[in-house]
Amino acid sequence: MVEPAVGSSLADHLRRRIALEGPLSLAVYMETALLHPRLGYYATRDPFGQAGDFVTAPEISQMFGELIGACLAQVWQEMGRPYPVRLIEFGPGRGTLMADVLRAARHVPDFLSAIRVHLVEASPTLRARQEETLRTRASDAPIEWHGHLGEVPEGPLLVVANEFFDALPIRQYRKSAEGWRERLVDVNERGDFVFVHSPPQSAPPSMAAESAAVGDVIEVSSAAIGLADTLARRIVDSRGAALVIDYGPTESAPGDSFQAVHRHRFADPLIAPGESDLTAHVDFAALNRVARDAGADVFGPMAQGEFLRRLGIDVRAERLSRDVSPARAAEVAAARARLVEATGMGTLFKAVAWQSPGLARPPAF
Ligand code: SAH
Repeated sequence: MVEPAVGSSLADHLRRRIALEGPLSLAVYMETALLHPRLGYYATRDPFGQAGDFVTAPEISQMFGELIGACLAQVWQEMGRPYPVRLIEFGPGRGTLMADVLRAARHVPDFLSAIRVHLVEASPTLRARQEETLRTRASDAPIEWHGHLGEVPEGPLLVVANEFFDALPIRQYRKSAEGWRERLVDVNERGDFVFVHSPPQSAPPSMAAESAAVGDVIEVSSAAIGLADTLARRIVDSRGAALVIDYGPTESAPGDSFQAVHRHRFADPLIAPGESDLTAHVDFAALNRVARDAGADVFGPMAQGEFLRRLGIDVRAERLSRDVSPARAAEVAAARARLVEATGMGTLFKAVAWQSPGLARPPAF
């Protein structure tokens, strides 16, 4: 990697890289903008909450993590109560989801004592934030941080990933009359980032490519596919389950979903890289296919609203609204609605589960 001079911005770093190597794939642009160890988006800030750029489900309400915690406790019992069990979270953000999962796990003391927490997090800033959250709010379950799954010790595992796969880098390909061209990021004479296209090349590795028409854009995340494959293999070999929640369509389809979000609004992904969150829709059908090929039992995608209702969010919201002020009860109702209704996250967001063969259907599926 080309190291930028101290004090230079991520945009300067990307410009220098393009000057040296030519136009970059969207995957390199996206990964560098998000994860550059010193200048990247996630390395330089806590982006969550009203004061940040976006709000995720666990930051909306404790109900989200608590329901997932209860769900995982049930899967653990179904797995034959392995001791210890690796509880792995990818991209834990502020650590809120894990804190709520661990609080829910207190209702099943044997589960709580079996848990070894492993957080896969690239950002040193967010690792510190997670430690703070978990030190003050959670159990004394041992916690370790890792850069990737390969560092997590062997053994039975339970995995959660909420809004993680959407941050994994994608490449884009556009079907033209002359064939498939990759969409690349270049710099113009003024120093602005612009999209350009590669010369025609062979079709991208995606089911959606087969039905694409001229003008369609196809997205492929080899990082997401690779992780789904590795995770599913581990689950099949070591016994366990993974729950992946994110936004994207039920079926693979053409479409440009590359987006930037800054201060709760859509932004231009080519302006000020490193200053806005860059994501793409998750191709659940492609991930499920890989997990199934690896031997896992696959469930979903199921809309988040349906998933949370089946896990009991209505009862949970009702209980949290008893004996509280009317203002607090209204907050709980608003949070529930935002998580489950189609106007909020209820329909666009989906859940999928991958399990080692032979276990009962996971709760909600
Ligand atoms: N799950 C959290 C945060 C989602 S944001 C929530 O729901 O609130 C994405 C998270 O993934 C951030 O913590 C980010 O730093 C982390 N991340 C993104 N790409 C990563 C990668 N390749 N490896 C490890 N962590 C990554």
